[in-house]
Amino acid sequence: MKKHFPDEPLQSHTLDMLWEVQNEKGYIPNADITRLSARLGISEIELEGVASFYHFFHRKPAGQFCIYVNNSILAEFKGYRDIVSAFEKATGAALGGTDASGTFGLFETPCIGLCDQEPSALINFYPFTHLTPAKVAQIVDGLRSGVGVEFLSNAVEDNIRYTPEPDKTVLLRAFEPGSALEPLLRLAPDEVLSVVKESGISGRGGAFFPTGLKWELCRKNESDCRYIVCNADEGEPGTFKDRVLINRLPGLLIEGMIVAGYAAGAARGIIYLRAEYRWLLPKLHAAIEMYEHIGWLGADAPTKEPFRFDIRVQIGAGSYVCGEETALLESLEGKRGEPRTKTFFPVERGYLGRPTVVNNVETLCFAARVMELGAEFFQALGTPVTRGTKLLSVAGDCNRPGIFEIEWGMTVAELLELCEASDPYFIQVSGPSGQCISAWDSHRRFAGEDLLCGGAIMVFDHTRDILQILRNFTAFFQHESCGMCTPCRAGNFIFSRKLDKMARGLGSLQDITEMQQWAQIMKRTTRCGLGMTAPNPLLYAIDRFPEYFEKKLDSTRTGLNRSFDLESALEDYRDAVQ
Ligand code: SF4
Repeated sequence: MKKHFPDEPLQSHTLDMLWEVQNEKGYIPNADITRLSARLGISEIELEGVASFYHFFHRKPAGQFCIYVNNSILAEFKGYRDIVSAFEKATGAALGGTDASGTFGLFETPCIGLCDQEPSALINFYPFTHLTPAKVAQIVDGLRSGVGVEFLSNAVEDNIRYTPEPDKTVLLRAFEPGSALEPLLRLAPDEVLSVVKESGISGRGGAFFPTGLKWELCRKNESDCRYIVCNADEGEPGTFKDRVLINRLPGLLIEGMIVAGYAAGAARGIIYLRAEYRWLLPKLHAAIEMYEHIGWLGADAPTKEPFRFDIRVQIGAGSYVCGEETALLESLEGKRGEPRTKTFFPVERGYLGRPTVVNNVETLCFAARVMELGAEFFQALGTPVTRGTKLLSVAGDCNRPGIFEIEWGMTVAELLELCEASDPYFIQVSGPSGQCISAWDSHRRFAGEDLLCGGAIMVFDHTRDILQILRNFTAFFQHESCGMCTPCRAGNFIFSRKLDKMARGLGSLQDITEMQQWAQIMKRTTRCGLGMTAPNPLLYAIDRFPEYFEKKLDSTRTGLNRSFDLESALEDYRDAVQ
């Protein structure tokens, strides 16, 4: 399987080189940093900076069997702590280290994309789901007695719970290989762009930028080589829809990338697959090989106009912020995954400075369906602003967690009924960076005109404590902030301290006001979406559940400020920094 394109610079191989060492030795020793930096022609400090950025690269031995337990809030409510204790007891390793013999390493990690099957863990990147303390003991016994980790790992369920009527189902309908490619035999790239634009589809990652326009902008930028980058790094806690698409429909994704390449005039495609989904790599490789075999990849394709396209897969190394498109491009280039300043859009200067389309898995699969079904199909489906359907990953306190393909326009109440959430209280839409809603919002519709959703729905019932949810989200953002912007680095830390204080019963109205001020500063002054959206859980929770926060404060301090004066907060901030 192709690892890199022939003329990619050696530095683009950095993550693979570090993975090679990590896989062989269980960590990255100093001697290898010295050796690889000389080979790459960069300083040891620079390479050290890359290795230390990604949380799956270890600079100290991390065990022959490296265990990562998911610590997202959904796992926390489903018994994460019991599972960690069971692993500690069975392996002799304390969380964050290895056992004395170096056989087992035990670590925690944010969402591994298995929220519908918690508690879950990865061992040497093989998935283990529905864990119980007894199951943990059996797994560790098996590893000690020499059973291969791949044989102990269990199959991951797709848990597809709902699709609309057959003639309205888009993504999860039956897939006939070649169905998205057949129109390319008779349509020129401009005509493909017209079909995609007419369909009205937009990006499914959360920004909802019109897909056809993005491809067209890429094509308009002159270059000897353009790229299609598939963002398969869905790291938002609570999201697992791309996992199901790759597992179930890898061919649909490959066809979507071929369509995008043809329309945008790109010769190369790269799938950036999050390391947490390394177990899905064989599926992707098999699909790429199949399309190479039938002449749609790696050869002159039978399209109306001359076209040749290649795809390779790049494995990430554990970083939420790499889901941000410019951070992802930095990572592909073998650097720290830090978001770029927005001087250029990726369609102007993206991967290696070349025009690049970055689309996520769902968007590319959707584009393939547009070619198969035609633009008119989508005009009658969904709402005027958001055409078609949307995949939602639903998890938490409901009887039917899993994947729901809904037609845009479905109400919150309808979805809660479908997933059998009998006591919904706090509902987090679009993951921690999104917003929370309450039962008062059950009439609202998932649609561009009302409630946009990038894909994750977490349902929490009345037994769950809002502060525990917010503390988990804040710890997540604190951990994942790349630290480049002071307001993001400091703001998340301050949130964390103040929420801890509130949990101890010592919170004051002043703390809430200060958190609101920091939130607005972060929204205005940070470089990327992480810093801009990290305050969302807090702001929305205060707005939707004021009575909860009133109760958490001293009863003599009432009058919680739900609406906030941004300008005066910024004025205070400017005064403070002058
Ligand atoms: Fe890094 Fe946060 Fe700034 Fe984004 S906002 S660039 S994650 S410090």
